[in-house]
Formats: sequence, structure tokens, C-alpha cells
Amino acid sequence: MPIKPAPENRLFQRVQASPGSRGKYVLYWMQMHRRLEYNFGLQHAAYLADEWNCPLLIYEGLRPDYPFASARFHGFILDGMAEHMEYFDSQDLLLSGHSQAGTPGNPGSAHYLPFVPRSPEEARGFLKQLCAGAKVVVSDEFPVFIIPEQNRALEDKLKEDSIPFLTVDSNGIIPLKESSSDPYSAYLFRKVLQKRFSACYRDFPEKQPLKRNQKHKLSFSDLQLRSFGPALESTVQLLRSWSAKRDSRILSPYQLDEGVSLLESGTRKAGLNRMKAFVKEMPRYTEMRNDPDAAATSGLSPFLHFGRISIYELVKQIFSHYQLNDSWKGLIYNNGSRGFFPGPPEVDAFLDEALTWRETGYHFCHHRPDYAEFNALPDWARKTLLEHRTDEREYIYSLDQLENAETHDEIWNAAQRQLKQSGIIHNYLRMLWGKKILEWTDDPRKALEITLHLNNKYSIDGRNPNSYSGVFWIFGRFDRPWQERPIFGKIRYMSSEQTRKKVKLKQYLERFGSENQGRLL
Ligand SMILES: Cc1cc2nc3c(=O)[nH]c(=O)nc-3n(C[C@H](O)[C@H](O)[C@H](O)COP(=O)(O)OP(=O)(O)OC[C@H]3O[C@@H](n4cnc5c(N)ncnc54)[C@H](O)[C@@H]3O)c2cc1C
Repeated sequence: MPIKPAPENRLFQRVQASPGSRGKYVLYWMQMHRRLEYNFGLQHAAYLADEWNCPLLIYEGLRPDYPFASARFHGFILDGMAEHMEYFDSQDLLLSGHSQAGTPGNPGSAHYLPFVPRSPEEARGFLKQLCAGAKVVVSDEFPVFIIPEQNRALEDKLKEDSIPFLTVDSNGIIPLKESSSDPYSAYLFRKVLQKRFSACYRDFPEKQPLKRNQKHKLSFSDLQLRSFGPALESTVQLLRSWSAKRDSRILSPYQLDEGVSLLESGTRKAGLNRMKAFVKEMPRYTEMRNDPDAAATSGLSPFLHFGRISIYELVKQIFSHYQLNDSWKGLIYNNGSRGFFPGPPEVDAFLDEALTWRETGYHFCHHRPDYAEFNALPDWARKTLLEHRTDEREYIYSLDQLENAETHDEIWNAAQRQLKQSGIIHNYLRMLWGKKILEWTDDPRKALEITLHLNNKYSIDGRNPNSYSGVFWIFGRFDRPWQERPIFGKIRYMSSEQTRKKVKLKQYLERFGSENQGRLL
């Protein structure tokens, strides 16, 4: 069976040109959807390589200078790169600077080129050079962080050289092109989801887009990257030692923030194991998802963020487990209210988070380049926050005090310690955590900056559209006005006292309640 192209509504044509006889390969630059299965971008690149009867080259990079670069994020990404390298190496399809002299390449369905430069200087000119040898360049569409800017910069360069370039949207079940403007509430987006879900879900990505019939040879000397040979060879050495030892000392030449420490494995294998284990335990989700002690949520946000797993395979896993595969007639179209998905209550409860809430954020950021600015809050929220800007505050903390969990509030300090040590805060406490930063900072605009800074610096799932959904929700995005009160104005309020009554926290506080206890774990 030939590989199918990705659906038209997932393609963003950035440079339209005809490759003609130029270029040797189709280049897929894997930026955000870092997986080899169920990936529309990779699938489309494989389809184009078949069309042009040429090799497919997968380039996966990791620059050293992204905002908040740390051992934590580098480690998670390297886990997946090492996994990819082993896969291609076992078939002799890994390209590295070692083969500079031009050893004949092996025929294969794709070749893999990883690059982890130590400094921006080491990487200078690399991508341009790599693209110069391509017939077509394909990459990932993603609405936030450095990705839109990277895609725009590459688009400008490739326009000059008339090299075709497109980005492919593998973000959610509902393609970004399916919404016409920014959804201002989850309710509004749920309507779009209910209307489009069955058609979009049927447009399933191919499980193994690399199972191509065509096999081609490609060797390092075909790439015209001779001057990058030593740096590429160091990357392969790095990935080999990472795979063998996984120790943050290996990262010391990269000048990363070592205070933001390494976490557990970020491989696709780890993501799939977590996904399967969670689906078996899903009945607990409805009742216990808000209890920090129960640990009843999926823990999948980092794997979704770095594209290690696809939302399609997660939904498929749930439908198979609950035998809902043939449940199209069971979908309940209720005009934007919850209760759309059939089966036991946990199915709708979970999919409302993983589809409605998750994708609301992606669509919002896609339509709003100002997604990270205070001015992108709804008018009522901005107005009320500024009206209460000078209200007296009982406590005011600096960024340093907050970062070091030095407030008077035991629950807040525990949440901040969890963030620093584990790279995440349990969802319910994450809401409380953000609300208190608003309450304890002398200006709501500064509070927004601090919340974004701490979230994106430490969260393993940070720098994602949902980082902006979550943080801006604290300040009124996707919410409605509530009864007016000091400091918050009409913004929804939360208190630690209510939280203590509402959710089970005993073990959580034992674990993160004091600096020393947290460190022992
Ligand atoms: C202040 C604040 C900051 C946040 N920052 C982030 C962030 O940086 N990255 C991030 O992915 N999420 C963020 N969220 C949303 C939410 O906290 C996490 O998505 C969720 O806790 C991740 O844990 P889980 O995978 O176990 O979730 P589960 O409950 O198992 O949910 C499954 C998936 O659904 C999505 N999801 C769940 N809850 C939400 C939500 N409220 N909004 C949007 N999507 C959701 C996530 O992709 C999640 O992995 C933030 C929320 C708040 C209040």
C-alpha cells in the first residue's frame, strides 16, 4: 500500500515552488512531534519522497540556546533522540560525521541525522546547508514557543532559494484549520469538536509511515555538510553515552541550567507504558482526579507536549479498551455541553480534558499571536484586574521568595517544591498555585509574568499552548466573571483553606511539605 498524504486541512504551504531536478532528498525536520509513528508530518514527508522517488532524510535537532534551556528539558528530548538513533543505527541508516569520506549508504525507507550542537556558533549555517540539498522541506506546525519564529525564519530563507517548504499540523484531532477564530471558551470549542470529531478522527495518521516500499541510498557525503562532520560525530557520541549512563554530568559542556534537574525517562516507550497503565486505571479518574494523594490522572502531558505520543493513539487506546470502536452512533451531539462521548463516565470526563480543553488552547494560540500578553485577556478580566491593582495585599512576595517556596502557606510551598523537584504540579493545586501568585504580587501584570516564568522554567509540560491556557485561566481567560472581591475583582478566587477541605493532601504534604523531606525522596 502506498503511503497516503496527510489530509489537506493539516498542511500549511509556506513556500510554493517546483523542485524540478534540484535536490537529492525530501527533508523532514522533526521539531515538535518527535515520534516515528502516527505522525502526519513524517507521513507526508514519506509520501512526497515516494512521489519524487527519492530518499527521505529525518533531521532531529536540539539547540542549546532555547529559553529556559536546562538539564530537565535537554534530558527528556535526548531520551527520545537516543531511542531514534538506536532504531536507525540497527539498520545502518544513521548518518553521522564519521562517514565523511563517503562510505556508500545503505538502502532504507529513511535515514536519520541527529544534531545537538554545544553552542549556537557550532550550528550556524547548518540548517540552510541541509535544506540546500533538499527537493522539499517538511516540518511541524506548532503554535507557541520558538517554533512559529523558527518556521518563519526558515520560510524566508527558503523563499530566496525557491525551495518548497510546508509545515504539517499533528497537534490534535481537530486540525487547526478547522476553527475560524480564537475560541474564547471551552464551551465554544466543544461545539466545534462535536461537529467535526467523527470526520477528523476517521482521518487517522498512518501507524508506520516508514513502512515504504521504496528504499533508497543516502550517505553523509550526499549532504554537503563536511564542515559539520566533527560536531555531528560528537552528537552520536553524546547520544551513545546518554543511552548508556543518563547522567546530567554528561550535559556539562552544554551550559544548561543544572538547577532544573533531570527527571525520569522521556522515551516513547515510557510514554506508551504510561498510557497503557493509565487506561486500565481510568475508572478512578472521575472521582479522584482532583485528589493529589490519589495520583489518578494520566501524567501524559509531557509526552503529549514533546510529541512522543499522538493524541490519536491515546483516543484509540481508550476506545479499544472500552470496546467503543464502533461507537459513532453513540456520540451525543448536545450543542457544546459535556457528555458527548459514550461509555462509562470516565471516558467523557477524560476526553473532555484531553480533547476539549487541550485543543481549545492550541486553537486559541494558533489564531492569537499575542497569546502570551496581558492584553490578550478578555476585556472584562483586564478591566477588573487593573481596577483592583492598588488594593491592599496582606502578603507580597518577590520572584525569589516564590521560587524558593518561602511563603507563609504550607500548601503553596508544597506545590512549588513539587514543581521544582518533579517538574509538574498536580492539576488542582496548579490552579491554587497560580491564584495565590495573583493575590501575593503587587501588580496583576507582574503576577502574570511570574506565573509564566515559573511554569515554563520548571514544568516538563511547559512552553505548550496549555501552559498559556492554564496560566491565563488564572487571570480570567476561558472563564466568566464571578462575584467581585478585593485584589481579584471579578476573577474567580480560590483559597488554601477550601482546598484543604476539598481534596486529600496528607501524603502530598508529607512528601513535599518541607524542604528536607522533599530532598530525601
Ligand atoms: C496554572 C496552570 C498552569 C498549567 N500549565 C500547563 C502546562 O504548562 N502544560 C500543560 O500541558 N498543561 C498545563 N496546565 C493544565 C493542566 O494542569 C495539565 O494539562 C494537567 O494537569 C496535566 O496532567 P495530566 O497529564 O496528568 O492530566 P490529565 O488529567 O490526565 O489530562 C489528560 C490531558 O488532557 C490535557 N489537559 C488536562 N487538563 C487540562 C487543562 N486544564 N487545560 C488544558 N489541557 C488539559 C493535557 O494534555 C493532559 O495531559 C496548567 C494548568 C494551570 C492551572
